[in-house]
Amino acid sequence: MKNEKSTQLFEAAKKYFPGGVNSPVRAFRSVGGAPLFIERGDGCRIWDADGNELIDFCCSWGPLILGHNHPGVREEIVKAVDLGTSFGAPTRKENELADIILKNNRFIEKIRFVSSGTEAVMSALRLAKGYTGKNVIIKFDGCYHGHVDSMLVKAGSGLTTFGISSSAGVSEEVAKETMVLPLNDRRAVEVAVSDFGHDIAAIIIEPVPANNGLLLQDKSYLEFLREITKKNNILLIFDEVISGFRVGFEGAAGYYNIQPDMITYGKIIGGGMPVGAYGASEKIMSHISPEGNVYQAGTLSGNPVAMAAGIAQMKACLEKGFYEELAEKTSYFINEVKSGIKNLESKVKIFSIGSIFWFAFTDKEKIQASSDIDPASMDKFRIFYHELLERGIYFGPSGYEVGFVSAVHTKNDLKIAAEKIAAALGVVFQKEMV
Ligand SMILES: *Cc1c(COP(=O)(O)O)cnc(C)c1O
Repeated sequence: MKNEKSTQLFEAAKKYFPGGVNSPVRAFRSVGGAPLFIERGDGCRIWDADGNELIDFCCSWGPLILGHNHPGVREEIVKAVDLGTSFGAPTRKENELADIILKNNRFIEKIRFVSSGTEAVMSALRLAKGYTGKNVIIKFDGCYHGHVDSMLVKAGSGLTTFGISSSAGVSEEVAKETMVLPLNDRRAVEVAVSDFGHDIAAIIIEPVPANNGLLLQDKSYLEFLREITKKNNILLIFDEVISGFRVGFEGAAGYYNIQPDMITYGKIIGGGMPVGAYGASEKIMSHISPEGNVYQAGTLSGNPVAMAAGIAQMKACLEKGFYEELAEKTSYFINEVKSGIKNLESKVKIFSIGSIFWFAFTDKEKIQASSDIDPASMDKFRIFYHELLERGIYFGPSGYEVGFVSAVHTKNDLKIAAEKIAAALGVVFQKEMV
């Protein structure tokens, strides 16, 4: 595949940005080579600086559930830009987006818009601490919650389950306010709650963990978390930055029919523009400034251009049958791939929920905790990835990342893609035999 231009651009970018990028995974370090510099996107396709055309399953890491350059979204963005790009004062559009969301979501009563998923999580955690008057947060190994200091922690070794920092610049004091537990392990939660319950403000989880592979949890486990938190005066936060508006308009809360105390959103909510949000009951949200004493603010929060994009996208998502059709197409796609790799059934698994999928090089039937993922399997992903690029298929450049099907991937696109993916997988194992 031609990549001279992307390579040149990447070399130039290295002079400007650390590692040549403005977000680390984009640097292609886990798959090797220079990242593709994207020139434009339309529908389910993207074109890079060298003129390569690819079918996109990264979809900007999830936000583009309607695909690239969706006419309805673009039109609303353009109309909003015509009226001015930012006022730092309330606009009608914030009401409109909030109204669409709150009227169609049984799990939150009030919402606050911010500008990214990280900001949503950061604000929700502060609110949880302010509301409960407690300071410790439980998170799970294998769940990502953005680059909030207190979430950049990993499980400590030995007896202590208090976190140790996983990034320079995060102090041990901050890391110690987070306990990191394995997913899908009730005993670990029971012990932590019985030993430290009086200090624990909240348990935060991705109800559909989709940032470290796709670690689908049993509904009964999520229900268990709901019960144990309720009993012990601990808030349950669903981080739905990926799953929100993805596994259904009401996200994972609706999918599993579990009422968390707070929900964070991002990605899809902004229609491809930078928007995040957090929501909860009126009672909990009343603790946010200026009503309450938990401070949280943003110069560009509720930005009218971003709101316009969100409104257009949310409206499209609410159309009858939208999610059913998306899930049906995704099943079709996965079945097409599977029928092309029958001989590899024991070596490659495709896990999925709704329109999210994940290819795992494993013989395991279920992967529910990060410790179930064999790091050595990523060597295969690296080969797979470049075989995909050669065939015009774009995935997120890491084997730990999930893929997304959008509303504009047609069955024909998916059939073509499935054949190419199956062929790429064939090459992975052919190379292995040599
Ligand atoms: C993407 C993501 C975040 C971070 O959102 P940003 O907009 O990248 O800051 C947080 N939590 C989850 C579950 C995510 O998927």
